[in-house]
Amino acid sequence: MTKSAFIYDPKMTRNILREDHILRPMRLRYVYELLDAYNIFTKDNVLIQSPRLANRDEISSFHQTDYVDAVKDFSSGKNLERQHLYNFSDSGDNPTTTGMYESAALSVGASLVAAETIWNQNTDVAFNAGGGFHHAMPGYAHGFCIFNDIVIAIQEMVAQGARVAYIDIDAHHGDGVQHAFYDTDQVLTISIHESGDYLFPGTGQVEEYGKQSGRGYAINIPLAPGTSDKTYLWAFKTIVPPLVMKFEPDILATQIGIDSHFADPLTHLKITTFGYKKIIEELKSLSPGRWIAFGGGGYDMSAVARSWALAFATMSGVELGPTLPSVFTERYGLQHLYDVETTTTDPESDANPMHIAKKSIQTIQREIFPLHKI
Ligand SMILES: [Zn+2]
Repeated sequence: MTKSAFIYDPKMTRNILREDHILRPMRLRYVYELLDAYNIFTKDNVLIQSPRLANRDEISSFHQTDYVDAVKDFSSGKNLERQHLYNFSDSGDNPTTTGMYESAALSVGASLVAAETIWNQNTDVAFNAGGGFHHAMPGYAHGFCIFNDIVIAIQEMVAQGARVAYIDIDAHHGDGVQHAFYDTDQVLTISIHESGDYLFPGTGQVEEYGKQSGRGYAINIPLAPGTSDKTYLWAFKTIVPPLVMKFEPDILATQIGIDSHFADPLTHLKITTFGYKKIIEELKSLSPGRWIAFGGGGYDMSAVARSWALAFATMSGVELGPTLPSVFTERYGLQHLYDVETTTTDPESDANPMHIAKKSIQTIQREIFPLHKI
C-alpha cells in the first residue's frame, strides 16, 4: 500500500499578504479540513507531518544572500524604502508583510521535509500544499512567490545524485524552476500552461527548451485560453509520458496548482475536477515510486479545497465519496466533491484551443523528441 505524508501546520495559513490579495493562505486550512472530514488521516498508510523552518543556508542554496537578508529585514519592518529593488511593493503582486520571512522559510522547510521523507523512503509520496512557489527568482520576488521551495527541495535531492522529473500543471508557466535547471540534464522540467501570450509571466514558449547540457531538458506546452479537459489531456498524454519514461527519473516532482480550473478568477483554462483527477492519475502512473507534490496557484476556494483533497487522496490510493462529509457541508455549504456546474465544451469553442495545442505538440515532437531519440 502506498505510504503518504501530508505536510501541514496551522501556522501555514496565517500570513495574510494584504486584505484584498487574491492569494489566501486560508485555502490550505480548507484542504486540511476536507481531508480530515473524510477521515483520511486515520488510515494506517497516511500521515500528517509537521514542517520546519528552512535555515538561511538552505534558502541561499538558490537565492542570493542579499535578497534573503533583504526579505528578513522587510519582514521585521526594516529598510522598506529598498523593497522595490527586490520587486516588492505595497499595492502590487508582492507586498511586504510582517513575518513574511518566517512564513516563506516555513514553506521551504515544508518542502524539504517532504523531500526528505520520500528520499529516506519513510513514505512513497508527500504533498506540501503550502509550497509550490514556482515563480520566485534567485534575486527577487515574482508572481506572489518569495522563496522557491520547489527548486530548493529538488536541489537537495539532486545533490544526493537523484534524477528528477518535474512536471508543472499550474496554469502559469513555471519560470523560476525552469530558470534554475535550464542548463542541466539532471532535472527534466515540463510546464504545461496557458500561453504567455495571454497570461503572466509571459514566458514558456515551446522554443525555450534548455541550453548547454540542459538542451532538450526544459519542455514547455503552451495552451490557448478556453482549453478544456479533452484537449488538455490529449496534449499531456502525447508529450509528457514519452519524455518522462525515456528520462527514467528517480523522483517525480510535481507542482499541482489548480488555477487551471474553469472557475478560477485569474486564468482562462477550463479544467474541471473530473479532468484534474485524470491529470493526477496520469502523474501517478509516471511516478517511479517516489513522488513529491507541491501546491501552487488556485484562487477559487471551493475548487482548491476539492481538487487538492482529490489529488492527495489519489496520491494515497484512497477513493473519496462524491458527497462531501456532512461536517464540511454544514461548515461551508458545499455539497459535492466534483463540479456540478461544468463548463461548455462544445466542439465549436474547442476548435481554436485544439489548433493551438496541436501547434505546440507538433513543434515539440519535431524539435525536441529527436534530442531524446523518441
Ligand atoms: Zn498559477
